Amino acid sequence: MNSGFTFEDFRGFIAQGKFMAVKCGDCNHMFIPPKPICPYCGSGKLSWIEVSRVGRVVSYTEVHVPLKGFEGFAPYVVALVEFEGGFRLPGIVKDVKVSDLRVGLNVVLEFSRDFPSGYFFHVYSCS
Ligand SMILES: [Zn+2]
Repeated sequence: MNSGFTFEDFRGFIAQGKFMAVKCGDCNHMFIPPKPICPYCGSGKLSWIEVSRVGRVVSYTEVHVPLKGFEGFAPYVVALVEFEGGFRLPGIVKDVKVSDLRVGLNVVLEFSRDFPSGYFFHVYSCS
């Protein structure tokens, strides 16, 4: 059964070039990955909302022991990024030295297929 708030839906939006999050109509929290009920208050009164791709770095690190399939990218920089609505999403920051990143720096979310899964994969670039 498709609830309308699935990861498949999320990936479908990405394929259309849209960055979408789920917003709760009762408590106003926004979240990704999508779930059929709000993880904060249990409400089913949800809707998709398009979100700005500009986010703010809240934490970051450099990975020297990569995940399987990412060996060719190591070392790489991973940041936890906060978007409007307050939800956070980790991802690789491309073309950056860890010494150039700072907490509070704005980064822009992009989608790429240049990763082992073959799925669209999100990466960040410095704005
Ligand atoms: Zn809620």
